[in-house]
Amino acid sequence: MSARIVLARGKEAPQFRRHPWVFANAVEALVGRARPGDTVLVETHDGRALGRAAWSPASQIRARMWTFDADEGIDDAFFRRRIEAAVARRAALPILAGQDGLRLVHGEADGLPGLIVDRYGEVLVVALNSAGTEKWSGAIVGALLRATGAAHVYERSDSDVRRLEGLEPRVGPLHGAPPASTVITEHGVRLLVDLVGGHKTGFYLDQRENRRLTRDLAAGRRVLNCFCYTGGFSLQALAGGAREVLSVDSSGPALAAAQTSLALNPGLDAGRASWRDADVFELLRELKAAEERFDMVILDPPKFAPSSAHAERAGRAYRDINRLGLQLLAPGGLLMTYSCSGGVSAERFRGFVASAAADAGVDAMVLQHLQAGADHPVALAAPEGEYLKGLLVARA
Ligand code: SAH
Repeated sequence: MSARIVLARGKEAPQFRRHPWVFANAVEALVGRARPGDTVLVETHDGRALGRAAWSPASQIRARMWTFDADEGIDDAFFRRRIEAAVARRAALPILAGQDGLRLVHGEADGLPGLIVDRYGEVLVVALNSAGTEKWSGAIVGALLRATGAAHVYERSDSDVRRLEGLEPRVGPLHGAPPASTVITEHGVRLLVDLVGGHKTGFYLDQRENRRLTRDLAAGRRVLNCFCYTGGFSLQALAGGAREVLSVDSSGPALAAAQTSLALNPGLDAGRASWRDADVFELLRELKAAEERFDMVILDPPKFAPSSAHAERAGRAYRDINRLGLQLLAPGGLLMTYSCSGGVSAERFRGFVASAAADAGVDAMVLQHLQAGADHPVALAAPEGEYLKGLLVARA
């Protein structure tokens, strides 16, 4: 018989709303024995079974719900069902058709808490970010191979969140002979993806649709792409007919990868692109002092606020770069501005950008709200999963 956890009275509300996380302070007792990752039955204080979860004694998220059906077994077949459903969900969406860089499993939203799977052509890159996914890694890899027919699986379980689960980082091949890098094609542009050393699982797949929007809006514009990483937005701007694209990042390897990608696309006019290894906060000030003007400014910074505790300081950073970005825009120019901070809500972010426009002394309007692509779904029960938000802003 599997162990069970009893929720403290009055602390069941998240699970009544089908939220997948059981926090430490909601657990009144563990009845029986469970090791990290073991499946436990979750019960209300008065003995009503709510579902099954993975036990994670080291984490503040003490258990993650696998299912809200207490009769559903957690076994190899469970992972086959969930993974097949995640793959089928994406296959049914025309907007994702033909993409060879695609997130196949997006953790909690796909009913697989802690599991990230990204597909880059024939390679799957897997991150096991919870005790439960760690325990079931064999079943997960087997189910992935079956559902996708991919040739290679590479593990990139090296994000900080593993530490919170009491797990050591782990990277390496899990199946086949994964290459260290590969090339994907996004909206007709070829991009080098460094599977071993790149950020996240190698690439920011979440910005795919926003890069398409950049391409669609770029014609004839002078573009400034800040925090360009490996040049995803820059190359789409060139593909869209930008007059000139200046890209900035403080990572030498990322800029080198951008050059390699540019060379993979002989149809793009490399002469229109320039690259700066610099700190964005400083460069924006230099450009402003030099009275440079752009018709499109892209701001896609790293997570300034990993949690809401950092929101205040992050707010100052967002206000700073957005004020400078707006000041660098020619009238009629477009700002594409993003926050991938889990600790900053979409509403709060819009507030920061509004303050930035006030500080800049410009009139500006939101043309579109932007978010991650459909391969990064957000569970209705867990809206905090909506980490990436953006605004397309026009300067009057
Ligand atoms: N827009 C990219 C992803 C950006 S990730 C894409 O679509 O792929 C954030 C990037 O910001 C990283 O490449 C990191 O090297 C860079 N970065 C972080 N702080 C920086 C700073 N102060 N100045 C310049 N670049 C910075």
